[in-house]
Amino acid sequence: MKIKSVILLIFLTISAFAQKDKKATTSQKDIFVSGLMAKMTLDEKLGQLNLPTSGDITTGQANSSDVAKKIEEGKVGGLFNIKTVQKIREVQKVAVEKSRLKIPLLFGMDVIHGYETTFPIPLGLSCTWDMDLIRRSAQIAAQEASADGINWTFSPMVDISRDPRWGRVSEGSGEDPYLGSQIAKAMVNGYQGDGFSKNNTILSCVKHFALYGAPEGGRDYNTVDMSRVRMYNEYFPPYKAAVDAGVGSVMASFNEIDGIPATANKWLMTDVLRKQWGFKGFVVTDYTGISEMVDHGIGDLKTVSALALKAGVEMDMVAEGFLSTLKQSLSEGKVTLAEVDNAVRLIINAKYDLGLFQDPYKYCDVTRSRTEIFTTSNRDEARKIAAQSLVLLKNKSQLLPLKQSGTIAVIGPLADAKENMAGTWSVATKQENSISLLAGIKEAIGNKGKVLYAKGSNLDDDAAFEEKGTMFGKTLHRDKRSKQELADEALKIAAQSDIIIAAMGESAEMSGESSSRSNLEIPQTQKDLLQQLLKMGKPVVLVLFNGRPLVLNQENETVPAILNVWFPGSEAGYAIADVLFGKENPSGKLTATFPRNVGQIPIYYSHKNTGRPLGNKDGVFEKFRSNYMDVRNEPLFPFGYGLSYTNFEYTNLKISKPKINFNEKLQVSVDVTNTGNFDGKEVVQLYTRDLVGSVTRPVKELKGFQKVNIRKGEKQTVTFEISAEDLKFYNSDLQHVAETGQFEIFIGPNSDTDIKTKFELVN
Ligand code: BGC
Repeated sequence: MKIKSVILLIFLTISAFAQKDKKATTSQKDIFVSGLMAKMTLDEKLGQLNLPTSGDITTGQANSSDVAKKIEEGKVGGLFNIKTVQKIREVQKVAVEKSRLKIPLLFGMDVIHGYETTFPIPLGLSCTWDMDLIRRSAQIAAQEASADGINWTFSPMVDISRDPRWGRVSEGSGEDPYLGSQIAKAMVNGYQGDGFSKNNTILSCVKHFALYGAPEGGRDYNTVDMSRVRMYNEYFPPYKAAVDAGVGSVMASFNEIDGIPATANKWLMTDVLRKQWGFKGFVVTDYTGISEMVDHGIGDLKTVSALALKAGVEMDMVAEGFLSTLKQSLSEGKVTLAEVDNAVRLIINAKYDLGLFQDPYKYCDVTRSRTEIFTTSNRDEARKIAAQSLVLLKNKSQLLPLKQSGTIAVIGPLADAKENMAGTWSVATKQENSISLLAGIKEAIGNKGKVLYAKGSNLDDDAAFEEKGTMFGKTLHRDKRSKQELADEALKIAAQSDIIIAAMGESAEMSGESSSRSNLEIPQTQKDLLQQLLKMGKPVVLVLFNGRPLVLNQENETVPAILNVWFPGSEAGYAIADVLFGKENPSGKLTATFPRNVGQIPIYYSHKNTGRPLGNKDGVFEKFRSNYMDVRNEPLFPFGYGLSYTNFEYTNLKISKPKINFNEKLQVSVDVTNTGNFDGKEVVQLYTRDLVGSVTRPVKELKGFQKVNIRKGEKQTVTFEISAEDLKFYNSDLQHVAETGQFEIFIGPNSDTDIKTKFELVN
């Protein structure tokens, strides 16, 4: 016992010294980690690679549970999804007091868009196009999570997706690699801060590496198959941006790539991630990612575990394939001790970097948990951020903003639905604390008017479908009355009102993991109710809740105002009311294209031209051209689209010179004038088109954006800089090059802009 304490003391001293002397950190760290590893048995090494879920520990049985026993035996490297600092402290105590080498544990959690204070779902957050706000949301999430014992988050999710059938589009930043990369960087910086010198930043894990957002048919976990040119140009950039920003860990995706599951894909994990991108942290599998490879059909548990380790995967989430088979594989020569050691080292390195050897309880300060979680100031910030994520899709005759007076009928299954406001992947939030739309509107109206409410319909007529969409306690309190009875009540209430706010769309769990849909309409029962309400001839505002782009043709044709609110987080009701009543002017812009029907999917602005592009812009069908007989090519709402209560006019697009060489910069400027009646924010977007390339190039690519605040009547000149670096792409040899030639530049309020000019890149 005494000897162990002395050893621990030596570790702590070396580590403390290392932390102080930044310059010496690398070598001191190596000495420390090597020293520790020299003492580890093979079983203890394999234990570090094991990441079980907290299991029965969450019920408070830490000391007697199976997981607790494994921790004592040194068979656990980290645990995830335990909530509360008290529980985590207790478990950490088992690791550092009862295991032989006293190695502290990592405590992970899916802190995806906030902890208890929740921000909009990531897709919503991305629609702010505001990197400071996004970084700030991650910072607050890290602060709250770390105050509750968590030191590692499985975020950001940066999977590009062009297929809204896939439910996990809600968890990412949409379809664009450039915007996605900026957001990946902002999130990693927000979580990890300056590198863990304090106890309010945490280790980030970029996921799901790679290409998880491109499953065939939009069906979750399905096969992915794409060319390398497409991977490198369109799907890889956000992961790389996270690596460049110093992300500490990477999560392997469930899907296969080139016929090999990502979890066993050596090309991906070693050649791309380590050799090409220089990643120095560790790779964790996704949940049971290793054992799932048995069903993928590439071997039994022993084989796939060995393949994963050899590919460059260090930590096994839940499958326990490493723990149960690597010893045998080692004795059979299927893996080497050097491969095991390398994995162990990377995990111990991360614990060291977090400062856990210096203080295993660094993230277990119980007082912080009382003062830093769900605070008024965090909630105020969340409310502001949420307001900026809302996207105004339609506002006929300036119906919005509404006056805070008269009688307002709030109708729909999402109106009084606080359990659904935080959206998918909000594991730490206390749903009962979220603000429903009804509560937000009532608060805004106070005694200035009257607010009436009726549910009007269930989420869906099919109770079994509703159950699938309301899992994890996100109930919509299904009403047993008939469709007719519910509608009658709503129509009666609507009849007494001056304006109708219809709160409809998807429930929180209709998107997210394992929530693929083949029909992207609002459920029929809600559509029927909406049409009945419209027939009353009163003004109707559709407040649309959704975790993905939906098909909204009928609503767009019939409803005068549509505010797309996603799932805005714990302050939802307040934030939506701020926008509805004009305290905040909407400025959100779509980061994913809204199709006209499911048949158009995959649909995205940055497509190629083809050899037979459509010759007209009016959507008229042309035989032997690339188009559909039954729907036009363009989406209903393009990438980058979103209205404001004011209007912005773009004039005077200028470039500093007609030609630049590889060392020069081109200045591009445009005047943006606020010609409406409100101050407002506008996301000014710059796209380029490479007219001739050695490989075919997209018709438009986002290369810059600026969110500017312009007062009514004011004009601002917005300037961008473009250089050869911005024009680079991966050619067919996968070299990252810019090629000389003509480029078009487009500037405007969304990707459909045709305000353009040209320049040339010369040698
Ligand atoms: C998801 C991951 C998540 C993990 C741990 C998996 O099912 O795909 O995104 O981080 O579970 O909860």
